[in-house]
Amino acid sequence: MLQVYPVLCRAGYMDNYAYIIVDETTKTAAVIDPSEAAPVIDKCTEQNITPQFILNTHHHFDHVDGNLELKEKYAARIVCNVADAGRIIGADICLTPGEIFNLGRARAEIIDVSAHTIGHILYYFKNDKILFTGDTLFNLCVGGIFEGTPEQMFAALNKIKALPDDVLFYPGHEYTSGGAMFAFQYNHGNDDIKNYLDRARRRLAEGLPVAPVTLGWAKKNVATRILKPQR
Ligand code: ZN
Ligand code: FE
Repeated sequence: MLQVYPVLCRAGYMDNYAYIIVDETTKTAAVIDPSEAAPVIDKCTEQNITPQFILNTHHHFDHVDGNLELKEKYAARIVCNVADAGRIIGADICLTPGEIFNLGRARAEIIDVSAHTIGHILYYFKNDKILFTGDTLFNLCVGGIFEGTPEQMFAALNKIKALPDDVLFYPGHEYTSGGAMFAFQYNHGNDDIKNYLDRARRRLAEGLPVAPVTLGWAKKNVATRILKPQR
């Protein structure tokens, strides 16, 4: 069983999500994409968690800036794609897409989705039906293309689309409001999106993270329509 604690970072301007994840069987813990250290440390202290690993999806500063402080504080090891080893400072464990990263008994498949950046990876905990999508797929919208091509983004999203519908995904930013506006343009009058947005706004107003949705829901409300070529 994998426990996930979302931590909102850079709240109100970049709205990153870092995630503290714990393999409940062995209590092995990791932090995914620590945008900044302070809110992650607060959450770890509150939950009495000592992360042993820092997992990065890609090299952008808003996903790695907390790395070194957390590495030092917890003697954690930084894990990233071998393709990013030269530009993620302090990288300790370099993964090759296709390989498995073991977090205690939890197993993450490393999936290359080069497009937002070249070398962007997903951490897919297949048995737990949990996927960390970084800046490739958000709630109701997809990531910008900084280093790859539109064709690469299309291929990346198709890799995500091929995963089972009941997988919950956790994005690298809280972009639900913007995503919903975008999705509305392609889904006029879709109550599913409207209800989700209303729920999301209520949670955010209380300072709570938006609950994750399944890939099935995303496939229905985002990808299949937004990716349809526009004439
Ligand atoms: Zn990014
Ligand atoms: Fe980002």
